[in-house]
Amino acid sequence: MDPLLRSRSEIDRLDREFLRLLAERMQAVRVIGTHKGENPDAPFVDEERERVVLEAWTREAEKLGLSGYFAGRVLREILNWSRRDQERFLDAHAKSAGAAKAVRVAYQGVPACYSDLTITKVFASRDVERIERLGRKSFVAAMDALEAGEVEYALLPIENTIAGSINEVYDLLAKRNVVIVGEEVWPVEHCLVGVPGTVLEQVRTIRSHPVALQQCQRFLDGLVGVRAESWHDTAGAAESISIEQDARVGAIASEEAAQQYGLAVIARGIADERVNLTRFLLIGRAAEKVDPRRPAKTSLVFAVNHRRGALLQCLAAFNDQGISLTKLESRPQPATPWEYVFYVDFEGHVSDARVEAALAALREHTNHLKILGSYPRRTESPLERRQLPVVPAEIEVVEPLENEPASVHACPAEPKPATNPNLKLSSSKHPGQRTQVDVNGVVFGGERFVVIAGPCAVENRAQMLDAAAMAKAGGASMLRGGAFKPRTSPYAFQGLGFAGLELLVEAGHAYELPVVTEVLRPEDVEKVAETADMLQIGARNMQNFSLLREVGRARRPVLLKRGMSATIEELLLAAEYVMAGGNNRVVLCERGIRTFETATRNTLDISAIPVLRARTHLPVIVDPSHAAGVRDLVVPLALAAAAVGADGVIIEAHPRPGEALCDKDQALTGDDLVKLFAQLKPIVEARGRTL
Ligand code: PEP
Ligand code: MN
Repeated sequence: MDPLLRSRSEIDRLDREFLRLLAERMQAVRVIGTHKGENPDAPFVDEERERVVLEAWTREAEKLGLSGYFAGRVLREILNWSRRDQERFLDAHAKSAGAAKAVRVAYQGVPACYSDLTITKVFASRDVERIERLGRKSFVAAMDALEAGEVEYALLPIENTIAGSINEVYDLLAKRNVVIVGEEVWPVEHCLVGVPGTVLEQVRTIRSHPVALQQCQRFLDGLVGVRAESWHDTAGAAESISIEQDARVGAIASEEAAQQYGLAVIARGIADERVNLTRFLLIGRAAEKVDPRRPAKTSLVFAVNHRRGALLQCLAAFNDQGISLTKLESRPQPATPWEYVFYVDFEGHVSDARVEAALAALREHTNHLKILGSYPRRTESPLERRQLPVVPAEIEVVEPLENEPASVHACPAEPKPATNPNLKLSSSKHPGQRTQVDVNGVVFGGERFVVIAGPCAVENRAQMLDAAAMAKAGGASMLRGGAFKPRTSPYAFQGLGFAGLELLVEAGHAYELPVVTEVLRPEDVEKVAETADMLQIGARNMQNFSLLREVGRARRPVLLKRGMSATIEELLLAAEYVMAGGNNRVVLCERGIRTFETATRNTLDISAIPVLRARTHLPVIVDPSHAAGVRDLVVPLALAAAAVGADGVIIEAHPRPGEALCDKDQALTGDDLVKLFAQLKPIVEARGRTL
């Protein structure tokens, strides 16, 4: 036998033996994995043991005349793999129910693109038997498939160490109802691939995704007479060559893509930078349990209150708890120019006590906050893993805001009722905690008592402009007007809809008054939020949960009116819906409840104001107009509201009340508004506030 052939067959035999031993080793590792799964107190990674094993291995290798360095690298890879393999036992234990054996995963691209390759890596350490992959044309289409339930997961790239963040994916995460459940890093190794037999000199055109072309710029610059052609993705470029079978065209893609499409590698290692990593996110519809022993990471998106130092305070919230941020990214908000949302990744899980404390502090400085997910961390270096952040001994209590008058802090002396544990975000964390909600410069919950005035409904341009003039002259700082009217009778005036909204916004602009208007349908929220400064949820919709969720996603403050037969707790739970969606800017409104009394349209529950002030940090205002239903009672009830500590009032006023298409009996005139202001002044001042 040819000695070369003999050696080769010997190598093949040894490789088979090597694999068999590896399989046996993995089997032994699984026994330990099962043990860790069943014993939640057993540490997941025994670093001391790993160190001892690695040292013994290197010594043994050197005794056999092998390079300790390379042998060590082999073992490190095996240890990594073992650790990953054990994760499935931990998570299966954490989930307790039988994990799904077949999953469908959507990605952007065609088979063998980097996303597709990463799916294999992600699921190697998850307990699944079959993966069905759905390649989609765009990130949006992959996300749509996830939200529509066509797949269990979507895997999308979020950043690359050279090209930076993938903004489109960030924007989708903020908008969609999805949760990040995992991350994975893929080392990108660009190759020039082509029809088998092609040599570099034959290639005239090189096609690939623009980012890949850019990452191989030096290589491309070195080729004379070669044209770069941009393609929708790297694997797609490889696929096109396999169809065209033209040796004059090459593609920049992975070696795996070359294999998939029957192509050959013409050149390897062609990227400018040696290290080129892409981080992917595994996205699901619901949060998944993570074994607390696994190092976790959390991603969130927030918008800060428009105040000096607000971002600094947000970052300090993490620092105060000893939490390391791993990423901070800002994105513009098209609807509100020069305002930004911030994406943050940090170490820790939302269920960690110190993370909870940091988030509570963070909420006080943000007007929007959405947790995008907590998931096992994949980006740590072995060094970092040995230096997990230290848990501070005690959680610091946040001090009340300085710029508030002392008397406003004074809470009613009544005993504090037992709080509902579901009021996680809306309840006061410490006595006197007040949140300020800024509506384009009009601050609710601050020193100033806010008066909102305007007609029940937007009727026409002249009426709206007159109403705005009247509100301004009467001293109001915001303008109201219903464009979408929830009417008890289907035959009553239903409002002008979006045309009405335009008139309201025009009038608000003309008199420099931010506007508030009611939104009735979830599908209208995004559009109304484009121009209205504040979104009103009416009494009839206080428990329209899909509407509450939708305004929770909106980037506008919300005026939440109490349902006419809702308890205070139900009102707070409705606020909780909005806040759980990420929107922290909620102002509550007491507008009268249904009782046996018929002398007034509703009965103003004046006690709701001090009760709410004790239970929640959110601002509370009063609508005396809908409570009373008759003009003469509106002013006295507004005065009562100021006296019990409301943060403001919302009043219906019409330039010509007799002509009002809606709620004419309770509309104040311009003169009434002026009188209201005069009478409010001493009462507001007695409460230590200004008008
Ligand atoms: C309104 O403010 O226009 C309104 C309809 O009020 P409520 O939802 O409190 O009845
Ligand atoms: Mn009305």
